[in-house]
Amino acid sequence: MAILSVSCSMHIALIAHDGKKADLVSFVLQNKELVENAQIYTTATTGTHMERAGLDVTKVLSGPQGGDAQIAAMVATGKIDVVIFFRDPLDKHPHEPDVQMLMRLCDVHNVPLATNPAGAMLILKGKKGC
Ligand code: PGA
Repeated sequence: MAILSVSCSMHIALIAHDGKKADLVSFVLQNKELVENAQIYTTATTGTHMERAGLDVTKVLSGPQGGDAQIAAMVATGKIDVVIFFRDPLDKHPHEPDVQMLMRLCDVHNVPLATNPAGAMLILKGKKGC
């Protein structure tokens, strides 16, 4: 009889608008145990901040250059398990259509999406240990 092996390695997308990058870095540093075995994908500038904080990440393009669209495509093709996108609700962003597309595809494919630290905490705690 074959033994079923289940991989628990999560693929998490971490993204933050400029006004929320510091909040995302501090959230991740305070909750390192929740992401320690995960593969982390980030948009380029968010990723640079994460790397400076000591995290190992895979970067795609910067959000305004198409990075959010790249993450959205990964969501659509089943390559991302959780999306954490700390959006800045008090600023305008030229790439808002891409952000909307990413959130829409999370809904289409039932991928958990958090846009603030409280939601991110609940999702990551719920996913911990699969
Ligand atoms: P960035 O992109 O990490 O390259 O700044 C994030 C965003 O979508 O604003």
